[in-house]
Amino acid sequence: MSVAVKDVLALKGARLTCGSKFLENFRSLYTATCVQRLIDAGVHIVGKTNMDEFAMGSSNETSYFGPVLNPWDNSRVPGGSSGGSAVAAAIGACNVALGTDTGGSIRQPAAFCGVVGMKPTYGRISRYGLTAFASSFDTVGTFSRTLEYSARALEIMSGYDEMDSTSVRVPVGKYSEALTRNVRGLRIGIPDEYFGEGIEPDVRRLIEESKKKLTEAGCTFVPISLPHTKYSIADYYILTTAEASSNLARFDGIRYSRRAIPPPKEEDGQGLAPLEEIYRTSRSEGFGREVKRRIMLGTYVLSSGYYDAYYIRAQKVRRLIAQDFIEAFVHCDAILTPTTPTTAFKFGEKASDPLSMYLNDIFTVSANLAGVPAISVPVGLDSKGLPVGAQLITKLFDEETMFALAKEIHIELHPPGF
Ligand code: GLN
Repeated sequence: MSVAVKDVLALKGARLTCGSKFLENFRSLYTATCVQRLIDAGVHIVGKTNMDEFAMGSSNETSYFGPVLNPWDNSRVPGGSSGGSAVAAAIGACNVALGTDTGGSIRQPAAFCGVVGMKPTYGRISRYGLTAFASSFDTVGTFSRTLEYSARALEIMSGYDEMDSTSVRVPVGKYSEALTRNVRGLRIGIPDEYFGEGIEPDVRRLIEESKKKLTEAGCTFVPISLPHTKYSIADYYILTTAEASSNLARFDGIRYSRRAIPPPKEEDGQGLAPLEEIYRTSRSEGFGREVKRRIMLGTYVLSSGYYDAYYIRAQKVRRLIAQDFIEAFVHCDAILTPTTPTTAFKFGEKASDPLSMYLNDIFTVSANLAGVPAISVPVGLDSKGLPVGAQLITKLFDEETMFALAKEIHIELHPPGF
């Protein structure tokens, strides 16, 4: 099995840039647990993949190294933040590409590039060696053309790791075997809130076709409600920016990599620059606009006077969103939704409007807020010839049902020329 690694995961001796100028020449001192487990299982690591800076973005346009192009149409974005991994899998450069999903960064680019994108339950795969963006959301997962490769990689990477206290001791499932499981009798929830305005007609049509396939396989459909969905984008962007502002404080120009004001040489006879000036100049030069925006938003929602109004409130809303899923799963075994309201958009279309960019995550962020597993499966092409993804969400640690159902609707797609 050949594997590409998103450049936010550590591989000893290799550069670990996180798509940032700050870490342009930083090399990892150790290897992430998930990558090490794959290496120990005998996989061949083919390389690191480009990404939005520090995994913040939905289009790959925030990478310091320039954007990845969508292989279905080079004028369009591959999605983000794991755009490089999505494309590596789509063009057959590897069997599996590792990505990370904090709010959709595996599922959204998978949908845009026509590959399987799988985010397991939070805690299923160790985060040791993953550069943190929002620690209580960050999840390692996979991209692949076929479900078999993702299932196999998940089996290898999963399981408790003493280096990550949030990894869990829940037994690892038989995901490959789940792909041959009979899905007859399973109940699939259709959440009202995910089928409102703004969904492209082709996306709607292909989700309907997936429903037909699942019906033929013996599944039934039940209407469900996830009533707090309308708060999920705001909630996600308050909590993840708060966590990011704390996590990214370690990039100060002293401990990691790029320092804007080098230490003076003895012969110059000058003293050290004031510490704050080193911080300020290093961070001003090292971070891109989107990362700065998130740090400022996060610092704001954590500051005294706003902490209760934003951060604490958002934590309570997160709880309500998680509760929505618990209640929905009383009535169904899985939830089916579109992965994204639209297919891949053009470069520049949303880059100058952060809010419209953030709204692209509307169907993906809730699974991260609740920690539940979710997969995006290619289900066909729209009238422009662009891939459409369907999303299946299951209960905590029920990746097996997720794979079993995914098998019924998956269509293997290859971009023209690949
Ligand atoms: N697009 C989302 C964001 O910009 C998701 C990022 C992610 O999952 N890493 O935050």
